[in-house]
Amino acid sequence: MDQPHALLVASPGLGHLIPILELGNRLSSVLNIHVTILAVTSGSSSPTETEAIHAAAARTICQITEIPSVDVDNLVEPDATIFTKMVVKMRAMKPAVRDAVKLMKRKPTVMIVDFLGTELMSVADDVGMTAKYVYVPTHAWFLAVMVYLPVLDTVVEGEYVDIKEPLKIPGCKPVGPKELMETMLDRSGQQYKECVRAGLEVPMSDGVLVNTWEELQGNTLAALREDEELSRVMKVPVYPIGPIVRTNQHVDKPNSIFEWLDEQRERSVVFVCLGSGGTLTFEQTVELALGLELSGQRFVWVLRRPASYLGAISSDDEQVSASLPEGFLDRTRGVGIVVTQWAPQVEILSHRSIGGFLSHCGWSSALESLTKGVPIIAWPLYAEQWMNATLLTEEIGVAVRTSELPSERVIGREEVASLVRKIMAEEDEEGQKIRAKAEEVRVSSERAWSKDGSSYNSLFEWAKRCYLVP
Ligand code: UDP
Repeated sequence: MDQPHALLVASPGLGHLIPILELGNRLSSVLNIHVTILAVTSGSSSPTETEAIHAAAARTICQITEIPSVDVDNLVEPDATIFTKMVVKMRAMKPAVRDAVKLMKRKPTVMIVDFLGTELMSVADDVGMTAKYVYVPTHAWFLAVMVYLPVLDTVVEGEYVDIKEPLKIPGCKPVGPKELMETMLDRSGQQYKECVRAGLEVPMSDGVLVNTWEELQGNTLAALREDEELSRVMKVPVYPIGPIVRTNQHVDKPNSIFEWLDEQRERSVVFVCLGSGGTLTFEQTVELALGLELSGQRFVWVLRRPASYLGAISSDDEQVSASLPEGFLDRTRGVGIVVTQWAPQVEILSHRSIGGFLSHCGWSSALESLTKGVPIIAWPLYAEQWMNATLLTEEIGVAVRTSELPSERVIGREEVASLVRKIMAEEDEEGQKIRAKAEEVRVSSERAWSKDGSSYNSLFEWAKRCYLVP
């Protein structure tokens, strides 16, 4: 008999492809099934995107098929956001995805789409697949807000940002306007309407796979299943199968970052990295640098060119010295290192000398930190990151965060230094609790994926339900 075959569909952009790729690897390695990933590319045939897909293809056990997306400029408003363009692109890809599936020699029986591509679920019905699922690569609270948004849309009047009280999500922590994604804030915009539509479509699937685990978000998961009101909108089963994160990869040695980390004391270095695209203003970069210096802690900082730097910068080295305060690199020589290239984040977080992570709190970064037991200094920038920061700080208790969103005001050097010290300094009592909690979460993340752990069992429960395993 043929090996069972699942089809995963990824929206354009590495931020969407990578989580689907990790999920695909997990499905094929744990369940021993065949997985095909349809990677919808942005259509611009950008060499970086193609290269990235090829690199991804080289390190996966899944089969990757690329389908270039069509141009949708005539289907969206001239000032459409990337989010809107992305969902409209996925909508326009229906015929191409259908054709690609029909051409497959080995027919997939189950489809999994990421939450931007919910409209593609109709293809699964068209070609006669057994079931269709949505993958939410972020956490259960986000899923709850997403499926409850259509209700909020009917009961709340006016813009959410004008409402004083946080919005009630049944059975879950209420959500403040800051915690909503930008896409949910302007209720007259096309992107808001697309969010509401996606919130209505997720429950039309046969179930949702979500990148969290029972022991991390038990209350929210229980609310999604059992709260009278929330479960009525959720409708379908929710399978927490996380944490699904990249595993350590081989880093070519000699590598100056690791040589330097090897020389440092255990848990004495703070790692600073704001995701794949996070940048700061020039002013904020300076304050962050001075704050790190003031904290007296050792650091590895992945620095991107400041968003507001107006000077002409021609090389990475020039970028570093031009955007940092005068003399900073000299004064911190031996205490910290600044890198400008893509850094091997998972491998850095795995190093024994890393004791804290100043992160923008993208969910992949957050999980990479949690699975290594590294406490977080939350520096949310955009999308659902403020919500992630709230979850990490207030619910899970593994983080401290800035007093305001860094996009709202510049976070001064004293505040930076105090946040860093709280997480890193051995004598800080709040820090001690946070570090202990981070270690507890690390252990629970490992347990969730051990044989008979909660996520392991949840994945098998799902796979049995859709006949991928006997
Ligand atoms: N990342 C990395 N090196 C870098 C910057 C980012 O390896 O220099 C990886 C990081 O490990 C994570 C991903 O890029 O897996 C970022 O995903 P996340 O969801 O945290 O944030 P996004 O960049 O999508 O906002």
